[in-house]
Amino acid sequence: MGERATAEVVVIGGGVIGCAVAYELARREVTVALVEAATIAAGASGASAGGVRQQGRDPRELPIALRAIRRWPHLAVELSAELHYRQDGNLMLAERPEDVAVLERRVAEERAHGLDVQMIGRAELRELVPGIAPSVLAASWCPSDGYAMPTLVTHAFARAAARLRARILQQTRVIGITLHRDRVAGVTTTRGEISCRWVVNAAGAWSAEIARMIGLSIPLEPWALQMLVTEPMPSRLRPVLGSANRRLSLKQLPGGAYLIGGGWPGRLDLVTRRTRLLPASIAGSARDASAVYPLLERARLVRGWVGIEAVAADGVPILGAAGELEGFVFAGGFSGHGFALAPTIGELIAELITMGRPSLPLDALSPLRFGS
Ligand SMILES: Cc1cc2nc3c(=O)[nH]c(=O)nc-3n(C[C@H](O)[C@H](O)[C@H](O)COP(=O)(O)OP(=O)(O)OC[C@H]3O[C@@H](n4cnc5c(N)ncnc54)[C@H](O)[C@@H]3O)c2cc1C
Repeated sequence: MGERATAEVVVIGGGVIGCAVAYELARREVTVALVEAATIAAGASGASAGGVRQQGRDPRELPIALRAIRRWPHLAVELSAELHYRQDGNLMLAERPEDVAVLERRVAEERAHGLDVQMIGRAELRELVPGIAPSVLAASWCPSDGYAMPTLVTHAFARAAARLRARILQQTRVIGITLHRDRVAGVTTTRGEISCRWVVNAAGAWSAEIARMIGLSIPLEPWALQMLVTEPMPSRLRPVLGSANRRLSLKQLPGGAYLIGGGWPGRLDLVTRRTRLLPASIAGSARDASAVYPLLERARLVRGWVGIEAVAADGVPILGAAGELEGFVFAGGFSGHGFALAPTIGELIAELITMGRPSLPLDALSPLRFGS
């Protein structure tokens, strides 16, 4: 990087969000530099479960999820990459009568927002998932949900952005933001300065730290979340399984291994930023998965990891301009939902920068909702 590099927009963070934003900007012929402290997909995006789910979303983010699902089936062709996207549906399981009632209410609300989701009973559920536990009473079923491989998607966005002349700078950390009067003027990185008119803060779990560089306090916390993988098993499960009362997301990957997540915590050392698996979480997660899908009682766990996600104080993403300062855009706090939303987040942030406002209103997700 030259001493005085310039770009119209600097995107901080090479996760799925930063890479999607860089791609959408490059597509609109905006000169963009993406600055990543480590390597592409080194953060939450490389650790993600990859669920592309609309059901169970907060009403503030459901319109983004609905828009994203129209794009997902075409993304592999658009980005010229294999993404392992499958649209085999998502089931939210209920094992207690009170959970059935909760799901019924939610399904009614989501249908009113235009989501194709419905309650199904035991018989239909067993047809979709023959191995489901007898304790499962009913489920909400969203056939257009699915999953994709997060590392493939993130790299595909980055490569597509680079083909459109976006500069992708890895092993380069942003350590400061320069302001001129009430506008962003550039960033300082570990490899020099970049002058720019816009900064997109897509630094994931560390985006509050970036915001603090310009004196903004954003209420989000890094959470360490665990994922487990079993040995490959015969192909049996097509939809993704979630649960109304358990911390569970369960899917069978193309090679036969089961991927088990759902929010069990790992340990995070905030100083070193190192993570560790917790034996109690491994046991708890395996127990929850086999309780609804008993075939897993015999499965051997072969791998596990912990990813660090940015969780906002109210559990929904934080998107848009940050107050009086011109040129600083926040795209963080995805709270466990960022992967599914990424294709549309990229578009909306690019529209905000190039057209002054996005094609879906983001006011309810603005950083300003937390106060100044
Ligand atoms: C275990 C787990 C399971 C998940 N499962 C799902 C799921 O099933 N479905 C779903 O939709 N979502 C899921 N999520 C959430 C989803 O993966 C995230 O919301 C999404 O990946 C966030 O992407 P991001 O680009 O904002 O952040 P990240 O991928 O974390 O990227 C941020 C990047 O910023 C870089 N960075 C930080 N500071 C700096 C700096 N100063 N300078 C330069 N670069 C910097 C980091 O190195 C990092 O690469 C899951 C998350 C986890 C952890």
